[in-house]
Amino acid sequence: MTRAHPGNTLFASLTVEAAACQLCPAMCERMAVLSERNGNLSPRVLFIAEAPGRQGGDRTRVPLSGDQSGRNFARFLSSINLPREEIFITNAVLCNPRKPSGANRKPTSTEVLNCSGFLRRQIEILDPRVIVTLGAVSLAALRLVEYHELSLKESAGQVHEWNGRLLVPVYHPSPQVLASHRREAAQLRDYKAVAHALRRIGQAWAKATSSK
Ligand code: SF4
Repeated sequence: MTRAHPGNTLFASLTVEAAACQLCPAMCERMAVLSERNGNLSPRVLFIAEAPGRQGGDRTRVPLSGDQSGRNFARFLSSINLPREEIFITNAVLCNPRKPSGANRKPTSTEVLNCSGFLRRQIEILDPRVIVTLGAVSLAALRLVEYHELSLKESAGQVHEWNGRLLVPVYHPSPQVLASHRREAAQLRDYKAVAHALRRIGQAWAKATSSK
């Protein structure tokens, strides 16, 4: 259940705006996947993936659900005992990019730029202490919100400070990435860094409240 949150009204307006958005000509027929079904509006962690998939978020209206990427992601979350009810999941682009054949495609840099205003506003409204990017596209999208010099290859599975928050880049949980670029054991190690970031936030919170 979504908790009452001062950002709820702002979030509701953002979802209406995103649903009507037609900035990307190739995605005018797709509807943005952004609603309260994306997760908790006071999330412990904001996860940012690449784009809704045809069989996943575009079909279920919940990012990273209903396809193999979603099942892999659920396994990684469970490895650090992080319940889905405590997080919010979004994408660098909110609509599903498709090839003329109907297959998923990578969003173009223009589409990522077009959608970066929505990403910035989601971060402002949800105000997460920890952000996890899933893959290179979402890490690059974050650079448009506030500059950073991180690359996925060099920074994956480490905790970084970014824009007053902790940022943990990890690889995308798609079956293709798991089969080639970042296998199961390495991804499970990367998620330990997410747990570490949450512990750091918890310690900082305990310190701040004990000094009051
Ligand atoms: S991807 Fe983002 S910017 Fe592009 S049409 Fe969808 S909501 Fe608008």
